[in-house]
Amino acid sequence: DEARLSSELLRMDGASYGRYKSLKGDWDFGDFTLTVQRVQSDPFAPPSRVRVLVPDTGIPKSAWGDPVRRRATADYLGRRARRLLRGSLLKIDTGGQEVIERSSCQLTDGGIDLRIGIDLPGHGRRIDGRTAERELCRTLPDLVDDLDWEEIDTEEAVAFADTVADTVALRAQLAERNLVAFVAEGAVLPRRSGVSDEPMTRGAVPFSPPESLRVSVDLPHRGTVSGMGVPEGITLIVGGGFHGKSTLLHALERGVYDHVPGDGRELVVTRDDAVKIRAEEGRRVERVDVSPFVRNLPTGADTSDFRTENASGSTSQAANICEAVEAGSHTLLVDEDSTATNLMIRDERMQALVHGDREPLVPFIDLVRPLYREHGVSTVLVMGGSGDYFDVADQVVMLDAYHPHDVTDQARALAHERVDADFTLPRARVVDPASVDDTTARGRGRIKRRDTDVLVFGESDIDVRAIEQFADPGQITGAGLALRELVGGRHMDGARTLAEALDSLDEALGRRGVTLLGSDFGGDYVLPRRYEVAAVLNRLRALRVADLR
Ligand code: ADP
Ligand code: MG
Repeated sequence: DEARLSSELLRMDGASYGRYKSLKGDWDFGDFTLTVQRVQSDPFAPPSRVRVLVPDTGIPKSAWGDPVRRRATADYLGRRARRLLRGSLLKIDTGGQEVIERSSCQLTDGGIDLRIGIDLPGHGRRIDGRTAERELCRTLPDLVDDLDWEEIDTEEAVAFADTVADTVALRAQLAERNLVAFVAEGAVLPRRSGVSDEPMTRGAVPFSPPESLRVSVDLPHRGTVSGMGVPEGITLIVGGGFHGKSTLLHALERGVYDHVPGDGRELVVTRDDAVKIRAEEGRRVERVDVSPFVRNLPTGADTSDFRTENASGSTSQAANICEAVEAGSHTLLVDEDSTATNLMIRDERMQALVHGDREPLVPFIDLVRPLYREHGVSTVLVMGGSGDYFDVADQVVMLDAYHPHDVTDQARALAHERVDADFTLPRARVVDPASVDDTTARGRGRIKRRDTDVLVFGESDIDVRAIEQFADPGQITGAGLALRELVGGRHMDGARTLAEALDSLDEALGRRGVTLLGSDFGGDYVLPRRYEVAAVLNRLRALRVADLR
């Protein structure tokens, strides 16, 4: 078919652009099959999509036999493909600093399955058949040749997978050591700039663990590594402004993912259920039990069944915490920079002025200990502006010019007695699956990402800007597809609670991988975590909760 495609494209040269549609279907190149899946209708429309299935590229089983190495090797090959395609019209989606399973490059047993976008070339509305022929009949076969295991730097590929395997092994040891996070000695946490996720190159101060929190861990490839273990419970990070508090917390937020070699955070890991909590004024809340935080509202509303189209800073943060716990998180990450102060603390003078029944809010400081003691939910909190949390912290780490010190004893000497409030687990919600519908008014499914701000889901625009642990734009699309799968895959059937539905989804994803979400989806997407899937669902304005238990 290769010769046939070549002459077909040359023959099309100068024909009207719509003729490209006739390319749809399979083309057998011998070593691989090219499938033209979707053809753009004009040169300015989103790129056309092709699939390249290579049954055998000689990848040894050691590189794909185990799911972690399979993900890492696929990621490595995808990045190589992107480099090889630089300067061509073919575009492959690859990751940034994180290594996350994605649709664009998947390993089959010994082979490779690529999803590539191509801007089919035109001179105005006429087909540029020569250029198309060069891209599809020369660049593409060259790419397939260059991805052969014989052709690649296998040492580098193996080292890449070793790094990811070590990160996974490190994270897997956190729970048995009663840690929520680990930051290796020598790790580089700061990034190049606010818009670049690459490591800071000049002037970065490598991480140095305080001796009292030092922990050593054995890893399969790197051997023994040493670093700061963050114990379960309540950890407070303090320090002067600009001393690196948010940078450390941000590294912990991303520590739920694995990083590429050279990132500086390869050995910075957090429990995989960690959720960043923040205030998010204006978000919608659909029947969430926020009663631990909000008691008697001036409106008289029942706060165990709380709904609003426009949450305040404090109620949005309360909902975010309750929803994270509902979705199964046992690790909360909080930064004073993005919280509602009135939900975090209330000092004595304010209590004296506004007391008892006039204040509906129970501050987090009164709930953070019962959350841990009664429900096993740990918190890592950055707070430089108030010493109140000394009263409740199990450990206090002070950052001083980017160097952490254990100041737990000094902080304890300054602590006061404090009476906790009660934290009862939020009521479980049962979602009405009919309210989670991605069909448009014209009856077609629509899941689309607009930048990193909005997920278009059917007729709804979901604002995702406050979902900070999306580490890759493709995860936004992936979360949209996961919502479709929650309904279409019947994970919510039988009036399952949201948590049960997410368990069922996770189980299916574990079995089938990222392809579960969209084998016929005409775009790139990346595996989301259940916490971000829940977060997107919770921000869907059409969401209806059918039942509370
Ligand atoms: P804080 O939250 O304590 O105010 P940030 O974490 O925002 O401080 O850090 C302030 C600045 O210091 C940022 O520009 C950040 O990139 C830089 N920074 C953070 N950690 C380090 C480090 N280990 N080495 C060098 N620069 C750092
Ligand atoms: Mg800060």
